[in-house]
Amino acid sequence: MRYISTRGGIEPIGFSDAVMMGLADDGGLLLPKSLPRVERTWVNRWKNLSYQHLAHEIFSLFIDDLPGTVLEDLIETSYATFRHAQVTPITPRGDLYILELFHGPTLAFKDVALQFLGNVFDVLLQQRSAVMNIVGATSGDTGSAAIYGVRGKERINIFILHPEGRVSPIQKLQMTTVADPNVFNIAVRGTFDDAQAIVKELFGDLRFKEQYHLGAVNSINWARVLAQVVYYVYAWLKLHSRGFASVDFAVPTGNFGDIFAGYVAKRLLPEGLINRLVLATNTNDILARFVTSGHYSKGRVSATISPSMDIQVASNFERYLYYLRGEDPARVRADMEHFNATGSLDLSPLHEVVSRDFVARSVTEEETLATIREFYQQHQYLLDPHTAVGVRAGLEFRDPGRPMICLATAHPAKFGEAVRKAIGRDPELPPALAGLKEEDSRCRVLDADIEQIKTYIMENART
Ligand SMILES: *Cc1c(COP(=O)(O)O)cnc(C)c1O
Repeated sequence: MRYISTRGGIEPIGFSDAVMMGLADDGGLLLPKSLPRVERTWVNRWKNLSYQHLAHEIFSLFIDDLPGTVLEDLIETSYATFRHAQVTPITPRGDLYILELFHGPTLAFKDVALQFLGNVFDVLLQQRSAVMNIVGATSGDTGSAAIYGVRGKERINIFILHPEGRVSPIQKLQMTTVADPNVFNIAVRGTFDDAQAIVKELFGDLRFKEQYHLGAVNSINWARVLAQVVYYVYAWLKLHSRGFASVDFAVPTGNFGDIFAGYVAKRLLPEGLINRLVLATNTNDILARFVTSGHYSKGRVSATISPSMDIQVASNFERYLYYLRGEDPARVRADMEHFNATGSLDLSPLHEVVSRDFVARSVTEEETLATIREFYQQHQYLLDPHTAVGVRAGLEFRDPGRPMICLATAHPAKFGEAVRKAIGRDPELPPALAGLKEEDSRCRVLDADIEQIKTYIMENART
């Protein structure tokens, strides 16, 4: 499989080069040259496979530059860190099916992709006798998942900046208690935006970027999308074996990464098996507005109790736009230029096409809390606030007779404050979180000053 850019400005490359490139050199996003679609008969072959074996089948459709045994080992290692034998188990609750994506090391769905990406980087760097210094900024979830993805890797150091005092105590401990010598936590005296701006500037300094082999783990890396395709197919197969022909998915969405993986899964499976994708946002609703009206226009970011979705510009949206524009890179390039200049894009003539795959709903804070409370009372099952956003939208769009699968993207104990607000008490801490308080933590506090941070990275970089 070769990969191209949504903006058409690069020669086709293989999977390995696509992973190493991250963002395409022309500023676009990387996509497979053509999306594979499997035959109905494959579904029978796949139905009794373990998560890992299914992952191997799916990855093999997209990856042809890694030997099969290397890929098998990569998958084995990546999902051995999950606490559940099925990796992403599915559980029926009331009228819904909950797809639990939070059994990885940091208890959020980003582990599914970042455990895999970390191991892919490791293998590719070995092949190339190269090293990498990963630099990223986090407001919470991504930082710890990225750290757990590469901890202990010989050829990688990781530097994660977070705003001092502005991430939850659990999120901070999840990052700073990792004792591996290749992990460097930096608490920046400033906001998340300050930290993010510094990271952008570091990557913009091309000499620095090259000299220190900077790498990124953000959600635009194709390997992350690919890893997430697997659980959509896995969930579909589980419901298929219970006698259902087609299913819907409800997906709490921020960067359009997770739900784009659902779109790829929908196109991978024979027509109609995945009926539609319910896109759920919190009050940061640019994507919900796009699906309901066809207008993609930036609003102001507001802070919510589902902070990992407090996003206005969805970095993966361009991938979907490519298909919406009939795989025409010139149109995508023009659209993105227009959007970057004006902050909005009128795609309403294509609204009909969007509606074939998506419906959407934005969910208020009150609705999110009420959903956590009611779901707990009715089903003795605690939702985290992100999952609750998806469940609220899922309930609204459920068709009787067709299963609605809601993606549970984080363990409720990671967002204890919201849960307490909803049900009046703290969620029980799972062992993985309860033990954190006793562990030593390591973190360097620095000013929101690019020179200070550059110096710290230079002193500790893998070279
Ligand atoms: C990142 C995240 C999301 C949003 O995922 P996207 O791929 O950005 O749409 C939802 N829930 C949780 C818990 C997350 O960490």
